[in-house]
Amino acid sequence: MTAVAAPSLDLSARVARVAAVALEHARRTDDEAVFQVEALAELRASGLLGLLVPVAHGGLGGGPADLIDCAESLARADLSVALIFAMHCQQVAVLARYGGEELRDTLLPRIAAGERYLASVTTAPGSGGHLLSAAAPLRETGDGLLIERFAPIVTGGAHADGFLLTMGSPGGSAPGQVCLVYADRAQLLITESGQWQPMGMRASHSVALRLTGTVPGHQLIGGPHGFREISLALFSPLAHLGWAACWLGAAAGALSRVAALVRSPAGRQRIDHRSELLLTRLARARHRIDAVHALLRHAQHTVERGGDLSAAPVQMLLNGLKVTAAESCRQAVEELIDAVGLRHGYFKDSATYLERVLRDLRSAALNYHNDRLDLADGRLVLLDRSVTHVAG
Ligand SMILES: Cc1cc2nc3c(=O)[nH]c(=O)nc-3n(C[C@H](O)[C@H](O)[C@H](O)COP(=O)(O)OP(=O)(O)OC[C@H]3O[C@@H](n4cnc5c(N)ncnc54)[C@H](O)[C@@H]3O)c2cc1C
Repeated sequence: MTAVAAPSLDLSARVARVAAVALEHARRTDDEAVFQVEALAELRASGLLGLLVPVAHGGLGGGPADLIDCAESLARADLSVALIFAMHCQQVAVLARYGGEELRDTLLPRIAAGERYLASVTTAPGSGGHLLSAAAPLRETGDGLLIERFAPIVTGGAHADGFLLTMGSPGGSAPGQVCLVYADRAQLLITESGQWQPMGMRASHSVALRLTGTVPGHQLIGGPHGFREISLALFSPLAHLGWAACWLGAAAGALSRVAALVRSPAGRQRIDHRSELLLTRLARARHRIDAVHALLRHAQHTVERGGDLSAAPVQMLLNGLKVTAAESCRQAVEELIDAVGLRHGYFKDSATYLERVLRDLRSAALNYHNDRLDLADGRLVLLDRSVTHVAG
């Protein structure tokens, strides 16, 4: 196994290559609602699929800050590609921390080499997005662990080389007993169903799959009832950091393109750059973006510090990040559409592509529904009557 250089040395060049490819194919893949295979190929070639793989296993050994930097940069080009990347990294981090030695030793070097792109299977029919309920149980048979699972929405599911799936714990009787299991594509019979024709995030190609197969016992991650702890300590915190970074990048990219348009000679002919209404709207968009950035970095430092991430103030911070980023990034783009008007705000062929970014960002509140997090946080607010702040 070869150790590679520290990620900070060359991350930006790797990300810039992927972002350029993502941008080149973004319009077509959005029109056709197809996966960005070109960007995935570049992610594989760039080594970025191994961003969170430890150096000892051949990866780049990055952490949450690197994930945020990369996801934000990719989202400036295309939000679907950024989400594909962030969700893959979340699966890798879980595998690296909670996978058993045999699984880590076989899988992590292959991820680092760009041979394994991982998808996430948590949503289940009936329970929607609720993470700690999984209708289909994992069954122990004489041959191993039997997976029979319908997954209504799997980002990149038709292209993933492996899957981390939540299932009911083997032998578990209570609905909250959930486990996490890894399955390689080669170990599964996979049937795709339905059509992928959403409003936005069209290049994420998040399809419905039926997955059936048997995997050896060592592919269970974190024990038979292990997902609750994994979710609180790593899976959900990284999801919220990664998603927020993606949405922030999409909004920041939109503002950057609008500022460039307004200052360009062509833009100056159409848009009055001294208009107080325009300047106020630009300022508001910027304030929303800066607020999400500050919250994201505060949450990142909290996660990096470790400790008990299940404590009520930390949970509220992480949930609040997700909800605030989902709302504020979309609102910032709405502000920009009002600022530049029909031609550059609403038409598909504008170089600002605000129309696509707005459609993409509309999914943010639904991707683990904000309502669920608000409800959970409302309960926590009542437990934390003194309103404890998480130290910066
Ligand atoms: C672009 C995109 C990509 C995705 N990729 C994946 C993926 O790769 N893998 C995966 O597993 N999932 C994925 N998801 C699914 C996502 O994470 C959510 O789990 C899913 O969107 C929830 O679906 P839902 O809105 O139907 O369900 P729910 O969250 O159940 O929401 C349905 C309705 O129930 C209401 N509701 C919410 N909470 C409660 C509550 N506590 N009590 C009562 N009612 C409530 C909501 O207001 C909402 O109206 C993706 C989603 C998106 C948008």
